[in-house]
Amino acid sequence: TKAIRLDKLLANMGYGSRREIQILARSGRIVFDGSELRKADDRIALDADLPERMEIDGEPLDPLPGLCLMLNKPEGVTCSHKEAGPLVYSLLPERWRRRDPALSTVGRLDKETSGLLLLTDDGTLLHRIISPKNHVAKRYVATLARPLRGDEADAFAAGTLMLEGEDKPLAPAALEVVSETEARLTITEGRYHQVRRMFAALGNHVETLHRDRIGGLDVPEHLGPGEWRVMGEADIDRIF
Ligand code: URA
Repeated sequence: TKAIRLDKLLANMGYGSRREIQILARSGRIVFDGSELRKADDRIALDADLPERMEIDGEPLDPLPGLCLMLNKPEGVTCSHKEAGPLVYSLLPERWRRRDPALSTVGRLDKETSGLLLLTDDGTLLHRIISPKNHVAKRYVATLARPLRGDEADAFAAGTLMLEGEDKPLAPAALEVVSETEARLTITEGRYHQVRRMFAALGNHVETLHRDRIGGLDVPEHLGPGEWRVMGEADIDRIF
């Protein structure tokens, strides 16, 4: 395994500047395998069990780099630094906003869209999930302003639908009707405002939009709006 200086590791995890980590260490606030770790230049092996073996002020160390989170995004928070309003990152522990490598969202949900949003600091994993080649399906529940006409499922499944201002037809998408004004739509692409624009192309209007599944991964029932948790290997495998 890779080893890294304690002060560099903790600074990259957002615990403070390297100088601040040196002070933390010297005051005996960092404990490793039950003993105080007072030297900030000690090299630490990045073993997977490190967060269970190291404590800072009595708290287990944050998850190591190579992190993937699932968040149940509420409406009204944004994935984009360019947009006004609270960012999804504000739902995470404050220290996590200073991590290097940084956490970024795996694709984006609109500010007014809720549901399953993944965040990771692992660029390879991020690209595996969003690459169109991997056809990871995303399922959305949409409530609509007008009753479904009945021809929507065929129009979406055909793989010929054109969105306004684009020159390449959409890949086939699967529609399941839930009620007159509610449907689930599964898409494998991630074009800008895609689901809203798909219904607009057929003369309807999406009023609320919620993503409930990515690949085979569902929003866990106990994960309320604004709540998140660290994903394990088994969760990640469900995506693909
Ligand atoms: N499609 C949309 O229109 N908005 C989203 O947030 C996601 C998919």
